[in-house]
Amino acid sequence: MTKKLAIIFTGGTISMKIDPEIHAAIPALNADEIVSTLKNIEDIADFELINYANLPSPHITPAIMMDIFHLVKDKLADPTIDGVIVTHGTDTMEETAYVLDLLIDSNKPVVVVGAMRNFSELGYDGASNLSAAICTAVSDLSKGKGVLVVMNNEVNAASQVTKTNTLSLDTFKSPEFGPLGIVDNDEVIYYRNIVSRQVIDTDRLEEKVALLKSGAGMESDILDFYIKEGYKGIVIEAMGRGNLPPAMVPGVKRAIENNIPVVMVSRCNTGRVLYTYGYEGGGMQLRDMGVILGGNLPGQKARMKLMLILGKTTVYDEVRELFELNLF
Ligand code: ASP
Repeated sequence: MTKKLAIIFTGGTISMKIDPEIHAAIPALNADEIVSTLKNIEDIADFELINYANLPSPHITPAIMMDIFHLVKDKLADPTIDGVIVTHGTDTMEETAYVLDLLIDSNKPVVVVGAMRNFSELGYDGASNLSAAICTAVSDLSKGKGVLVVMNNEVNAASQVTKTNTLSLDTFKSPEFGPLGIVDNDEVIYYRNIVSRQVIDTDRLEEKVALLKSGAGMESDILDFYIKEGYKGIVIEAMGRGNLPPAMVPGVKRAIENNIPVVMVSRCNTGRVLYTYGYEGGGMQLRDMGVILGGNLPGQKARMKLMLILGKTTVYDEVRELFELNLF
């Protein structure tokens, strides 16, 4: 029987053209115009096309991500829909995809897709990426793998993927693990599966979560600013294995004393944080103080996870337990 997919269009370069007056890319194409660039898709599935928005992805807020989640959830609950595709700008694609991955409790395939070249450029990759997303979403092999990001004929898990290059079509990578699979000749081929999934059962997220990167000689002033401004959580991209300059330690301590969870990830592109070092500002001191370890997550994804967990609980130990689950 022919499958039916819902495609939710949210904007991004996949829907952009060069504006002749400003000579720069802006949102322009609607769902029908994007889909008309594909060939023979009626042979693959039936479609419900939803013009949700036409936003550049830096305009997508956590509240909008939550709204997209509710729409995806409604579509997944529809017994006539076999899978959902979300088109999205690539700049914040990993954040929306990860939020969806942490919230969706369904085995039906959910695929997030975009483009690196807009419709006015030679070599627009929107059509090939969306075709690959359709081939992925229609496959039974894609069930139960969490949210998938399909770009440049590669399939990556939303929990593992990050944007690695500002320009390249081959920008979405899972640096620790490699792709789950590829799309080859209109067929998805999986090399491996995900080990496990975490679903956070919440209907709200806490938006006041700060993200900050550490640098040599940094002090506690920025942390004190976030405490004063009423931030409810702080993610720090620490150094190397998970260490901070000693002058940042008092600020971290004050945040935790104010029941503001502090999550530490690394500013390195790959590798986990751990309490390896025992000097002032080292991971052991931070861990003993109450800092939560964010595994190998990039800062921007750790921030989304903390937002969702804080939407569910503000009890520090519960936040830690939920955060440190399912990290590798
Ligand atoms: N700046 C664009 C966006 O995220 C980039 C893209 O979609 O590729 O909306």
